[in-house]
Amino acid sequence: MDCIFCKIISGELPCTKVYEDDEFLAFNDINPQAPVHILVIPKEHREMLSDYGPNDEGLLGRLLAVTTEIARQQKLDHYRTVINCGSDAGQMVFHLHLHLVSGRKLSGQLC
Ligand code: AMP
Ligand code: ZN
Repeated sequence: MDCIFCKIISGELPCTKVYEDDEFLAFNDINPQAPVHILVIPKEHREMLSDYGPNDEGLLGRLLAVTTEIARQQKLDHYRTVINCGSDAGQMVFHLHLHLVSGRKLSGQLC
């Protein structure tokens, strides 16, 4: 599959890994928008948030829960989480990912 995040999961492309378990992988964003900019992704490929629904509440809940755990491990007190859904919302990589951004004062702009 021609998906850069799936290639990162398989090890075909490198990443700076921050966290990994059976279900999720987190790594540093290659073009960080802040001193801390981590992407948290499910290992299962689905393009975007709108591909998930009520049957996925477990996975979506664990995505947020694992993000709070990563934030604790990184000793982040204040941080922002962003999920872009669709190209007009700024999504460029079509494999669901959550941005975890921290380390500077964040303005009203989202990410
Ligand atoms: P989005 O605009 O929400 O789709 O975010 C995609 C993010 O993926 C951007 O912040 C990119 O900098 C990041 N990105 C793209 N390719 C890589 C890569 N190979 N390793 C790490 N981050 C990447
Ligand atoms: Zn993928």
